[in-house]
Amino acid sequence: MTEQSAKKHSFQAEVAQLLHLVTHSLYSNPEIFLRELISNASDACDKLRFEGINHPEYYENDPDLHVRVSLDKDNKTITISDNGIGLTAQEAIDNLGTIAKSGTKDFMSKLSGDQKADAQLIGQFGVGFYSGFIVAEKITVESRHAGVDAAEAVRWISTGTGDFEVEQINKASRGTDIILHLRDDAVDYLESSKVKQIINKYSDHISLPIEMQKEVWQEDAVAEGETPQGGQMVKTDEWEAINSASALWTRNKNEITDEQYIEFYKNLSHDFDAPLAWAHNRVEGSTEYTQLLYVPSKAANNLFTREAKAGIKLYVKRVFIMDEADNLIPNYLRFVQGVVDSADLPLNVSRELLQESRDVKTIREGNTRRILTMLDGLAKSEDEQDQEKFKQFYAEFGSVMKEGLGEDFGNRERILKLLRFSTSNNDDISTSLADYKARMKDGQKAIYYVTADSLNAAKNSPQLELFKKKDIEVLLMADRVDEWAMEFVNEFDGTPMQNVSKGAVDLGDLQDAEEKKALEAAAEQFKPVVDKLSDALKTKTKEVRVTTRLVDSPACLVTSEGELSPQLVRMLKQAGQAIPESKPTLEINPEHPLVKKLESSNQFDDLAHVIFDQAVIAEGGLPEDPAAYVKRINSLLLK
Ligand code: ADP
Ligand code: MG
Repeated sequence: MTEQSAKKHSFQAEVAQLLHLVTHSLYSNPEIFLRELISNASDACDKLRFEGINHPEYYENDPDLHVRVSLDKDNKTITISDNGIGLTAQEAIDNLGTIAKSGTKDFMSKLSGDQKADAQLIGQFGVGFYSGFIVAEKITVESRHAGVDAAEAVRWISTGTGDFEVEQINKASRGTDIILHLRDDAVDYLESSKVKQIINKYSDHISLPIEMQKEVWQEDAVAEGETPQGGQMVKTDEWEAINSASALWTRNKNEITDEQYIEFYKNLSHDFDAPLAWAHNRVEGSTEYTQLLYVPSKAANNLFTREAKAGIKLYVKRVFIMDEADNLIPNYLRFVQGVVDSADLPLNVSRELLQESRDVKTIREGNTRRILTMLDGLAKSEDEQDQEKFKQFYAEFGSVMKEGLGEDFGNRERILKLLRFSTSNNDDISTSLADYKARMKDGQKAIYYVTADSLNAAKNSPQLELFKKKDIEVLLMADRVDEWAMEFVNEFDGTPMQNVSKGAVDLGDLQDAEEKKALEAAAEQFKPVVDKLSDALKTKTKEVRVTTRLVDSPACLVTSEGELSPQLVRMLKQAGQAIPESKPTLEINPEHPLVKKLESSNQFDDLAHVIFDQAVIAEGGLPEDPAAYVKRINSLLLK
């Protein structure tokens, strides 16, 4: 094949926009370009190791993988080279000219103008390569994919504006050279001491050697007999590793500083903030593995979307196997970031195989236990800092944890212990179920809770009126996931949990005989009204009955035990799900003047519908026919 002349390509529109942003908004933290490019080089070596399992010829008699950073003061270039998998011409065009990940638009919209915050986003959204343009006016990439002919290597050149050029070149060595032509204001990065320091800071844990040319002190040449007055550092042909090049998780715990753990986390997760906590263990037994698991301090933007991915990387005997290993952590702990290195799994393990492996199940259970124990430790700790951490953890991840109630039956009790709620007596989301139990009234036999669309709606729910009157504390739940999750929970620590908007209220011993008698009497007295109401509202309600649970409100809606509440029905409908129609029960307060008025009203039908619609509104819904509702209200107002 003959050498072809360079071909121009345009960047995908988004890339062009991104490049502009990168160079204009991230210049206050320029050094991250080294972290990003070294991380790409290291990924490329990981990929070679992985593909080399099935294609040993890819190693081309050059099995020692490394990254090399070289500085050229004369040409003002810094070059990051690796002998990893390399890029084919097509890959160079695709991977360096477009952004495959859908997150880019998101990325742009998230840029806040706060450069520190924006700098971390760049890594999160997989646009690391372009960070080179923070310091370079031009980037040349020369690459040869493993196994490809030397004559069919590729050169990619761009100044980071609208387009890039691609041409075929000859390149003997496998892998990729990223050559940054530094801008005049970035020539600092030609100082080896500075570059070493940055590599140590960001990339010390990278498990392959990052090498620079060894420098030696050379004294100035002088005439015979004179002593030299000075000298300079000059480069030799020898390369030396400047990182410790042992994967952090393989090292001994006591030899790792907190700073190293934190830096490793930041690299792993592309999070700019330190993690809240971590656990590092070598687990021995029938399944042997090392786990290094982190709890981030903030929830990722996509935590609650379908795009959310598990944050665990799987290694087998230090060989990188895959990202986002979702078999190694349950879905409700998807916020956990970390590394699992297994001694038992085969190197060619696939996602399908992982699903069936007993070892994987053991590892997942081990990871789950470790995280739950760590969180429990924070929750129980007397240390103020730990308490603060737990609070932050809960604010960020509390609602994800609740998914575990439906997902992980074996750990339900452990998860319940970690949950915190606000209550009718205390707005702070700080009451644990154990706290609640300790405050229960004499004779109280259940843990009461109410679910609603918002905390305010929960707090002011008519269903709570009697509880307030009797000063019985009720847990308020307003997370979207609450009602679904609580369906799986019947009790905590031997005490039943009861949703006060479901089924008839049974306050047990908290209600004295006299009150019960009064209710029976009222039910008797109101029977004709109740019958008439049932008839007027028969298309809307399953049943109408008298209640003592209300104090200030005329009526409320109640769902039967085991049925979906109106909130959940609304939510599912919004999500486009078909749900079986079920009618609520209407409970009326015989003490309320409006209800009393029903007995004598000559507008019975209007009043009945208004009372029903108001009950719908009180729990956050809309009347089925708002116009009819308004008409009825107005007609009643005019009387
Ligand atoms: P990410 O690393 O998150 O995929 P980057 O913007 O850092 O995003 O890199 C984009 C892509 O360019 C990589 O996914 C990879 O395919 C390719 N790439 C970048 N650097 C190298 C390299 N040194 N060797 C091989 N491929 C590379
Ligand atoms: Mg990258």
